[in-house]
Amino acid sequence: MVAAQQPDWPDLAAVAEVRAELSVVPGLVVPEECDRLRDQLAAAGRGEAFVLQGGDCAETFASVTPAQVRDKLRTILQMAIVLTYGASVPIVKIGRMAGQFAKPRSSDIEAATGLPSYRGDAVNDIAADAAARRPDPSRMLAAYHASATTLNLVRALTGGGLADLRQVHEWNKDFVARSPAGQRYERLAQDIDRALAFMRACGVDLDHEQSMHSVEFFASHEALLLDYEDALTRYDDERGAAYDLSGHLVWVGERSRAIDGAHVAFATGIANPIAVKLGPAATAAEAIALAERLDPDRIPGRLTFITRVGADSIRDVLPGLVEGVTAAGVSATWICDPMHGNTISSPSGYKTRRFDDVIEEVRGFFEVHRALGTTPGGVHVELTGEDVTECLGGAHDLDHADLVSRYETACDPRLNTGQSLELAFLVAEMLHG
Ligand code: PEP
Ligand code: MN
Repeated sequence: MVAAQQPDWPDLAAVAEVRAELSVVPGLVVPEECDRLRDQLAAAGRGEAFVLQGGDCAETFASVTPAQVRDKLRTILQMAIVLTYGASVPIVKIGRMAGQFAKPRSSDIEAATGLPSYRGDAVNDIAADAAARRPDPSRMLAAYHASATTLNLVRALTGGGLADLRQVHEWNKDFVARSPAGQRYERLAQDIDRALAFMRACGVDLDHEQSMHSVEFFASHEALLLDYEDALTRYDDERGAAYDLSGHLVWVGERSRAIDGAHVAFATGIANPIAVKLGPAATAAEAIALAERLDPDRIPGRLTFITRVGADSIRDVLPGLVEGVTAAGVSATWICDPMHGNTISSPSGYKTRRFDDVIEEVRGFFEVHRALGTTPGGVHVELTGEDVTECLGGAHDLDHADLVSRYETACDPRLNTGQSLELAFLVAEMLHG
């Protein structure tokens, strides 16, 4: 069986040692949480919730700092409040966080340097020298610890002030006041103000209402590095099933979703909710075959399809996929990744994405699902809590010449905080209809 995108480990005995160690450490999540997320994804599939999944393309060990984790989480929570208002249903909040340390690459060799490609901090080092790029299995242990540290912070922060609805709303109002596009969003922010005042007037004690102060936040990543994912999989006696305890939800990427490949085989063996990315060349027959393997019992919430086809193709490609899958009786939640089909090269050499293309793909996603009578279940974005300059456009209208000032991603270009919030406001408008 082909295992796509695996490192060429130079020392297999060292891999075995790391795997042995990882096979006895505590899981990062517990099965009960995975089941709860599965139920919430099922609700999103029925239109009774909406998913916001976001975070870095590639987390790095260096980015596991209190400030960076907090700011990324805060950005996602700010987006979630805006979306809650737009959707009028609960937002299922899922980070591309606490585990997104392994990357598939289109080439084994990096064109610019002739070195082996960087495959994520769980595998090798991004520094451009041959020794740094050598796959080092001890990095899988470091990835486990970095994930644990991240998730620990996330759990602490989402149980405390960072999740306070009024505080998050104040940050959003501050964003609206400072954004050049602020006027456009002011009415929505005022509506949320009014909704809070209404609740208060009805006697809801916002100071003591638990749901105002804490949120549930789930961790997800691509289940790419099979030595890592497999070693963190544990059988749960109570449930009579194995769970990959490296995260709540794991997904199979566009480059590793071959029906007879090792990644799909791995995913069939775990009870976590599973997502599969579908690119522009994916066919309905492929999606149906994936569903038959990954979700033979048609358990609601078990399977999510994340489409990432590009703004130009979404209206052509998505209808056939959704119709075919729906006609086959498959139960899947549909999420839109408007990032990966819209990557372009800047004349300056940077990989980038246009904010307008990102928005246009989400718009097409909603249009197609509404026309078919199916449910747009959520969005999946690459974002950061910082003012990076990696994607073009947005209210500050970043152009090609701006990219150089703060281009910091270890892999794909991410929306910065402002662009992320703008996206949330625009998606809220789409949800509102
Ligand atoms: C990613 O999510 O960073 C990624 C590599 O996506 P895809 O598998 O859709 O190309
Ligand atoms: Mn990416």
